[in-house]
Amino acid sequence: MNFEINKLLQEEIIPFEFVVKNTDFNEIEGKLDENGGLIRGTIEKISRGTFLVSFTIEMTMIYPCARCLEPTPIDCCYEYSDTVTVEDGVTTLDLLPIVEECIYINEPYRVLCREDCAGLCPKCGNNLNHKQCDCEKSDDLDLRFEALKKLL
Ligand SMILES: [Zn+2]
Ligand SMILES: [Zn+2]
Repeated sequence: MNFEINKLLQEEIIPFEFVVKNTDFNEIEGKLDENGGLIRGTIEKISRGTFLVSFTIEMTMIYPCARCLEPTPIDCCYEYSDTVTVEDGVTTLDLLPIVEECIYINEPYRVLCREDCAGLCPKCGNNLNHKQCDCEKSDDLDLRFEALKKLL
């Protein structure tokens, strides 16, 4: 999304609205769902070469659950407001890298499909939310004990 900034007058505020797709980004971990993300905001020329860019992003992003890797949709609504400076002679401002940065810094640290997700069996990789496997229970207990010991 390239915004023509050379035609903006001082203190003029211009609204913008556009939709971003998953393919617009390279650096973010989550995947946008098929609806993409709705960006709504304004750009204001503050002084020569300096612009205030403000917007909100609304979208659903899909992350693998940290325990069982099941794709988990998360409703996201992020806000961004910051000044951007451009060099003399630059006529357009690409908003996509700014949008990507905003998503990047807001990405959740750890997504769980549900609070009590049972995760994967460490032995066979079975998703324990769906069914129990036949791996020995005693091994599971040992693993939990190991984890507890680390906490002490
Ligand atoms: Zn899970
Ligand atoms: Zn198992």
